Amino acid sequence: MNRTRSNELYEQALQHIVGGVNSPSRSFKAVGGGAPVFMQKANGAYFWDVDGNRYIDYLAAYGPIILGHAHPHVTEAITRAAANGTLYGTPTELEIDFARMLKEAIPSLDKVRFVNSGTEAVMSTIRVARAYTGRAKIIKFAGCYHGHSDLVLVAAGSGPSTLGIPDSAGIPLSLASEVITVPFNDLAALEEALAVWGGETAAVMVEPIVGNFGMVMPKPGFLEGLCRLARAHGALVIYDEVITAFRFHYGSAQTYAGLPLETPGGWDAVQPDLTALGKIIGGGLPIGAYGGRREIMEQVAPLGPAYQAGTMAGNPASIAAGIACLQALREPGTYARLESLAAALADGLSAAARRHGIALTVNRIGGAFSTHFCDHPVTNYDEAQDTDGERFAQFFRLMLEQGVCLAPSKYEAWFLTTAHTEDDTAATLAAAERAFAEMAKRG
Ligand code: PMP
Repeated sequence: MNRTRSNELYEQALQHIVGGVNSPSRSFKAVGGGAPVFMQKANGAYFWDVDGNRYIDYLAAYGPIILGHAHPHVTEAITRAAANGTLYGTPTELEIDFARMLKEAIPSLDKVRFVNSGTEAVMSTIRVARAYTGRAKIIKFAGCYHGHSDLVLVAAGSGPSTLGIPDSAGIPLSLASEVITVPFNDLAALEEALAVWGGETAAVMVEPIVGNFGMVMPKPGFLEGLCRLARAHGALVIYDEVITAFRFHYGSAQTYAGLPLETPGGWDAVQPDLTALGKIIGGGLPIGAYGGRREIMEQVAPLGPAYQAGTMAGNPASIAAGIACLQALREPGTYARLESLAAALADGLSAAARRHGIALTVNRIGGAFSTHFCDHPVTNYDEAQDTDGERFAQFFRLMLEQGVCLAPSKYEAWFLTTAHTEDDTAATLAAAERAFAEMAKRG
């Protein structure tokens, strides 16, 4: 595949944009380096790059593009909104409509606030949880990504109840010491951490279904236990549903029927106090939102003492795109179709890998799945790290050469969109068959 123009643009980008990319996940550093592909156009399930090559897109912009690119209903809503002005700095009626839609779909939200990104949504939930509890510490889970704000870019120390160490330069140790990181799916570790720090913990934050070290389900009883333990220590529960909301059904993970609960249907036992949202709810435009229990959200300015604001927040274009996206997702059969496409593809990949003697664990949840080059299950971050990154890099490049676009990281999911067809998944499986054959040959 000829990518001369992409390579040229990358050289230019390196001169002007740090690392040549505007988000590190877009670089090919994790898959052996070199120029990323510069895309020029996207429609439905496809990308076209600047050299005219076509790709089937499973990146879906890291999640938001669940309807495929340039979905007519969303595009029309954005165009209509833009024609009436993109930013007012005043309240608008559409914001109320959208807040109502979110509340209807996610019952734990009594009140919401719109922001501009998942990072902001998470950051704001932490501020509010601290304001409400008067406590400083946050407990999070290893490998869960919650955006790039200081507090949540902190990794585990050397034991389950040790204080965090910064994951990035520029985060003071004093801040990192407010964060405790424990392994996902490990209630004993959470219990141990809370036994030590429970009295100082404002909130336990979790991706209720993980999307950031592969797609990983909570084990039966994990979320109930997490909520029970947090509450026993007077800490709030924050769900980061930036990836998961509207991903698996018309609602969020906290009401997803596929969630393995201790008590089937025991939804009350897994309701969070606060939820962070983003990605899909913006229909492809920048957005975030957070919300939760009334008395907690009433801590936020102008009602309460916790300050949080935004010039761009609730802008008419993002809100209109979000409403249009959710309207389209309400079409009957949408999620069943995403799931059946993903199941056929995930099962086909597993079978093809087996045929070629390649160890592959596929974690599929609804219309999304992750592929881990290993022969063990992936239920936590340690297991996700202990997979063959070089094999993934080989697979990623062999697929790219055949016009299949995946995220350039062994931890990221494949996302199906309503624009994908059976022909697309069949073509993808044929490409994977050839990729695995080549990988087996190379050894
Ligand atoms: N939370 C989760 C679970 C995420 O996956 C992400 C982004 N991948 C974020 C927060 C941050 O969202 P944003 O990139 O919109 O700031």
